[in-house]
Amino acid sequence: MNCPICDGQMVPRGYEHTTVVGTHRVVDSTAMVPQCEKCGAADLDFERLGRYERRAALIVLLEAKTVGGKELRFARKTLGLRQEDLARALECNPQQVSRWEHDETIDMRLRLSVAALIERVEHGKPLDDLAQDDRPELRVA
Ligand SMILES: [Zn+2]
Repeated sequence: MNCPICDGQMVPRGYEHTTVVGTHRVVDSTAMVPQCEKCGAADLDFERLGRYERRAALIVLLEAKTVGGKELRFARKTLGLRQEDLARALECNPQQVSRWEHDETIDMRLRLSVAALIERVEHGKPLDDLAQDDRPELRVA
């Protein structure tokens, strides 16, 4: 594939992507991204952007000193969930999710719960039927 802007050669290179997650900024330089040799344009497709956003949300949830409703909302959107979907996954009601998303800070239990949902999606597992025993080698007796 050639550059859609200048028709130059696209080559995979180290890339620094900044994602704004609520009040935090996450600079991620862990991935290689195809970039134009001539004009430097990067090929950031929908899939790649989604991965950057989920990874940024995960880092903020796990490592930021304080996390609030804005960041929770960002994390929910990276999962493609509506408030009622997140409520179902966390076994609470949508009004509770809405309250959390307006809070200044959310607690560590909630941060870890949402982080676990993101990791699940990163591993290609569905978010419905969370408690399903889908690893036959690890039986829940
Ligand atoms: Zn180019």
